[in-house]
Amino acid sequence: MLDFTLNDEQRMLRDLAHDFAVKEILPVVEHYDKSGEYPWPIINKAQEIGLMNLNIPEAYGGPGVGVLEECLVAEELAWGCSGIQTATMLNQLACLPIIIGGSEEQKKQYLGGWVMDNRKMPAYCVTEPGAGSDVAGIKTVAERRGDKYVLNGTKTWITNGPVADLFVVLAKVDPNGGHRGLNFFVVERGWGVKTSKPIEKMGQHASWTSEVIMEDVEVPAANRIGPEGAGFKVAMEVFNNSRPPVAAGAVGVARRAMEEAIKYAKERKAFGQPIAAFQGVNFMIADMAMNIHAGRMLTWQSAWLADQHLPNAKEAAMAKAFCADMAMKTTTDAVQVFGGYGYSAEYPVEKLMRDAKIYQIYEGTSQIQRTIIVRELFK
Ligand SMILES: Cc1cc2nc3c(=O)[nH]c(=O)nc-3n(C[C@H](O)[C@H](O)[C@H](O)COP(=O)(O)OP(=O)(O)OC[C@H]3O[C@@H](n4cnc5c(N)ncnc54)[C@H](O)[C@@H]3O)c2cc1C
Repeated sequence: MLDFTLNDEQRMLRDLAHDFAVKEILPVVEHYDKSGEYPWPIINKAQEIGLMNLNIPEAYGGPGVGVLEECLVAEELAWGCSGIQTATMLNQLACLPIIIGGSEEQKKQYLGGWVMDNRKMPAYCVTEPGAGSDVAGIKTVAERRGDKYVLNGTKTWITNGPVADLFVVLAKVDPNGGHRGLNFFVVERGWGVKTSKPIEKMGQHASWTSEVIMEDVEVPAANRIGPEGAGFKVAMEVFNNSRPPVAAGAVGVARRAMEEAIKYAKERKAFGQPIAAFQGVNFMIADMAMNIHAGRMLTWQSAWLADQHLPNAKEAAMAKAFCADMAMKTTTDAVQVFGGYGYSAEYPVEKLMRDAKIYQIYEGTSQIQRTIIVRELFK
């Protein structure tokens, strides 16, 4: 049966996230964008009211909501500030390999103990200076020595790297094994992990990313996730669950840009009338609305498939690519609606345009999403 209505619990969660965005995020957006400080007060409040670690199962102290519910929260938080949304929701990405492939012990100790009870931050560490899209091309090695692995390698662009206590790291257990020679490891910072300063970037200034450096870091064999060689499969399953909320974040940014464009188009006058009266302007806004709606529907369906444990690789890739490209186009058009003021840092839309760009890059670029769609179509 097709049903596009949200139930009471879903509406309450969405409203909680929207209220949080209005009351806690909007007043400080400019401060965090301009200062580049890490938004600790917002993160702490989000944890207190249950807007973080949404995917951690109830058995380990989390709310254990579905991917669709994660999407509802992601859209609202990104509507407020997508840098803060990325910093807030990254915990969920980092916890996914443990949720998907972890042992009972790992789940109790790290999801329950570290993340839920002690509010420790995990970071998801796959990308390296020499390999991003080509996951199997990573160089970080995990060499087995008795009941330990010794990890050597450098990760880059790791969201929350500078503030993380825990690193969920993809490494090669078999240097000649290609994509069958990989595993995730749960690595505690105290075991010798080093992180760089935050990398300066175009947008999402409230979200910090850094290098994560491991030199002879000893990790108990019990911290390997899944059987030897399970890493690539776990990484792909992670993407099927993580891409819908990322797509929803892009929808949130686009929706905010459209709302700002509507407000401005009604106020700004040219040739004696509001610019909203010109078809050249209002058709841009009609296109924004159509594309935002289409993106949200793609996102919800891909999330719903994940929640039903049905295959969703193609749909998640479609949602991620469509929404990322759509957010870029919508925010660029919003700047256009604002004219010269759109280009000014005093108005909100230039930040939205800078923030939107990353959705076409992280969690797999828009090109990689298309290679996944093609692979699924030609199977
Ligand atoms: C702000 C930010 C936060 C991030 N957070 C994290 C994180 O928390 N954890 C993490 O592990 N990573 C993270 N990343 C890394 C991100 O996932 C990678 O940047 C992304 O996957 C692309 O990899 P790359 O940068 O190495 O680009 P490359 O893989 O070198 O790609 C360069 C260009 O080539 C294209 N290309 C590559 N291969 C193909 C192909 N087969 N077909 C067509 N085109 C192709 C790409 O689309 C792109 O346009 C983050 C990145 C940024 C910028």
